[in-house]
Amino acid sequence: MESIDELLLKAEAAHGHLCAGQILGVRMALLGLDRLGISDPHGADRKRLVTYVEIDRCATDAVGMVTGCRLGKRTLKFRDWGKMAATFVDLTTGRGLRVVALEDSRELARQLYPHIENPGEQQMLAYRELPDSQLFREQWVSVTVDAAELPGSKGQRLRCSLCGEGVNFGRFVEVEGQRLCLSCARPDLRYWTLES
Ligand SMILES: [Zn+2]
Ligand SMILES: [Zn+2]
Repeated sequence: MESIDELLLKAEAAHGHLCAGQILGVRMALLGLDRLGISDPHGADRKRLVTYVEIDRCATDAVGMVTGCRLGKRTLKFRDWGKMAATFVDLTTGRGLRVVALEDSRELARQLYPHIENPGEQQMLAYRELPDSQLFREQWVSVTVDAAELPGSKGQRLRCSLCGEGVNFGRFVEVEGQRLCLSCARPDLRYWTLES
C-alpha cells in the first residue's frame, strides 16, 4: 500500500483541494483495507472489494481513490444517509468492515489545536495524527451483495414500453403486462420535469 502522504497527494489532485474530509476518507479506506487484508486494491485484489459509502461529501472521493472502487465499475455503492461512514466488503467472504467517523473528532481537534482558529486547519492536523480508535468506530458486518448489483452483472437489456429508452441490469417493473423503466413506472420520483 502507498503511504498516507502519497495517497493524500493523489486525493488532493483528484478532489481539487486538500481538506479534512480527504484525510478522513483516506484513513477510513486504509483502515478498511488493512482489516480485510487487502494490500493491492488497484491490482491483484481489485475484484475482491466493493465499498458502500453513506455520504456524498469530500471523504467519498478519497475513499474511492484509495480503494479503486468506482460508480462506473459498480464497485462503489452510494446510500444517501448523510453519515460519515463507509463499509468495505470482501466479496470472497461476504464480510465487511463498517467504519464510522466519530462525532467527537471535531471537538478532539479543537482541544489538540486550540491556538489555531480555523476548524478546518485544526481538523486537518488532528485527523492525520489521532489514532484510529479516537477517530473511528469499527463494526464487522456481513453483506450480501445482490447478484444484480455485482460488477460484471449484465442481465437483460430491454426497452421501456413507454419512453423507449434502453434499460440495463433488470431495472424495470412490469405494470399491467408492460415493462416500464423505473422513471416511467414512478414519474413522481423523477428528478426532472420536461420543459414544455
Ligand atoms: Zn474537500
Ligand atoms: Zn420509460
